[in-house]
Amino acid sequence: MGKGKRLRAARAAARRAEAASYPFVVDERTRDELGPAGLAELALNLWPGDCQTCGWDLGVLRPAVLIRDAVAFVAASLHHERCQRPRWDDGPLWTSSADAALCSYTLRTFVLLTRRGTNPPEETPVVVINPSLETTHLVRDPHGRWTSASIDHHRALGLRTFAHDLNVREALPDARVVLDGDLLTVCLDDTGQSWGFACDDQTLRRVRTRGGIALALTTAIDPTTLDSVEEFFALGTAGRIAAGWVALEGSEQPLPRNTVAPDALRTFVLYHDPGHASVGELLADTDRAISPDRARAWAQPLIPGSPIPWNRIGDAQAWFTLDALTLDHYILRRHDDAWKLVRVFARIDGPRDRDEESLRAWANTAVRTRGGHRVLDWTPQPATDDRSRTLHGLGTAK
Ligand SMILES: [Zn+2]
Repeated sequence: MGKGKRLRAARAAARRAEAASYPFVVDERTRDELGPAGLAELALNLWPGDCQTCGWDLGVLRPAVLIRDAVAFVAASLHHERCQRPRWDDGPLWTSSADAALCSYTLRTFVLLTRRGTNPPEETPVVVINPSLETTHLVRDPHGRWTSASIDHHRALGLRTFAHDLNVREALPDARVVLDGDLLTVCLDDTGQSWGFACDDQTLRRVRTRGGIALALTTAIDPTTLDSVEEFFALGTAGRIAAGWVALEGSEQPLPRNTVAPDALRTFVLYHDPGHASVGELLADTDRAISPDRARAWAQPLIPGSPIPWNRIGDAQAWFTLDALTLDHYILRRHDDAWKLVRVFARIDGPRDRDEESLRAWANTAVRTRGGHRVLDWTPQPATDDRSRTLHGLGTAK
């Protein structure tokens, strides 16, 4: 075989392998603009519901991806190959009949048993919605490649990604949930989107008592297939769900509350600055805007036993206390994203010469021996200032 033929054969094989990794058909330009990573991301965020041209079920054949490049926004959508040829369309005349009315959504509701500090568990109603199975917005990534950006789009509505915590501390400004019999409708006034659904008694009761519902938007899953809280939080930790609190229309705006993940997955905090390092379990967090006095008053009842009066740590926005009976230490510190109350497993005071890698190893040991958990991974979080670092680790029982 000649060199040119071999090259062509190799390219064709590579293309076949690539095409096998995503369940749709794209044209040459879309393949170039997105690259393998962008196509994989697209595969994660597009679901073959209905054709966005004719509205009929896409069935089992691989659908065609049509990219609408309208300058102000770029969106990908799925169509029957007979209805649209796969292409990147940035022409001045947009001829497809694709519109939002054809786009499907799926959802499911559940009640999340959540714990705040050492308080009894609370029941938080949650609705997980994939608002657009067959379409997704695209943005350019830092390397200039286009990639799916549904989460950015949801963030613009005030929804937030989360890890251990749904971040539903205050109601979304332009959203409401309307209750009519056993029918709930979540409305986003900014975009005019709304989703109506019938609800079981348990969820309805919680929506009434809590004065709203936690809304979780994602295009990374078909929520009807979601079958565990762990899966939900795994997607959340991966940054693939954006959540916010939607107040029930006509009810008082609910008090800010924390919604902490169930015991299955605990969050540990490793904090260090040049004069101090500590590691422990995150018990609770709250709005960083409240004053130190209010933060201490908030934290006090979360600490079991009989804590001694608060002691300030250096000149930082940080205080520590200990339970006089068990000698368990607690640190309350203001970070850039929240006040965090941590039950401390180990701390180092005074100047130290350890690098972060050895601090992580030290923290892993402390979490394992004092906390009985194994940390899966440490991820950097907003810190308190430019001399300090905060990391969160998700841990499972060892
Ligand atoms: Zn069609």
